[in-house]
Amino acid sequence: LASRAFHPEDSVVMVGDLAIGGEEIHVMAGPCAVESREQLLEAARQVKAAGATILRGGAYKPRTSPYSFQGLEEEGLKLLAEARELTGLKVVTEVMDVRTLPLVAEYADILQIGARNMQNFFLLREVARVDKPVLLKRGLSCTIEEWLMAAEYIMSGGNQRVILCERGIRTFENYTRNTLDLTAVPVVKYLSHLPVVVDPSHGIGKWQFVPTMARAAVAAGADGLLIEVHPNPAEALCDGPQSLTPENFAHMMKELRSVARAV
Ligand code: PEP
Ligand code: MN
Repeated sequence: LASRAFHPEDSVVMVGDLAIGGEEIHVMAGPCAVESREQLLEAARQVKAAGATILRGGAYKPRTSPYSFQGLEEEGLKLLAEARELTGLKVVTEVMDVRTLPLVAEYADILQIGARNMQNFFLLREVARVDKPVLLKRGLSCTIEEWLMAAEYIMSGGNQRVILCERGIRTFENYTRNTLDLTAVPVVKYLSHLPVVVDPSHGIGKWQFVPTMARAAVAAGADGLLIEVHPNPAEALCDGPQSLTPENFAHMMKELRSVARAV
């Protein structure tokens, strides 16, 4: 179902009135985690002003250490809904398990499946039964074929609205957090009709390199970007080193217009 052979035309995934995979590049931006009302509303206001159309923010966080901030959970979802109300931005947020799926689906416009859950086949089967678009991140060490098979689980379960997200893979290189695999963009577009979004923030892990790779992703044919933006990255509870300030984000958006179809 995900294959280009089965469906020769590019798929456009509608998120309300936004067309992902259409003429315009859509930028999903916001903090790694929802931390507080002030933090989220400030981030939302700023990314909207700079041209983002979708707000990101985790309410449930898959952290390496159980002692790290784990997210505000339902309170975080409510804040995302409030930010949507105030700005008109759509909301993408991660769903980590089957247990919390009904609650997350009540608030999210797009359900994010994180890299660590890309092959959680029970979760994929459950999101397949929800009438919401799914942002399917590529697993930490997953091949393109495994990634497309994960999309196949969602689509064969009844949900055709899958957006793929390249977010970097594990390699021997450790100067960057991951290795952003931009070859995945043309390869996936050759193999599949699904829209592809690139997340340079997690791909690189260092904010200094995010704007350049965002431009490279768009030049390679990405349909959208996922960018972490925090009002005060130095104080972020999660992923501060890879988060842009609102000012740097606005600058990135301006530069993007030199390579993008339309932003
Ligand atoms: C995130 O988007 O904050 C996140 C946890 O991403 P990934 O699953 O790609 O690590
Ligand atoms: Mn993050």
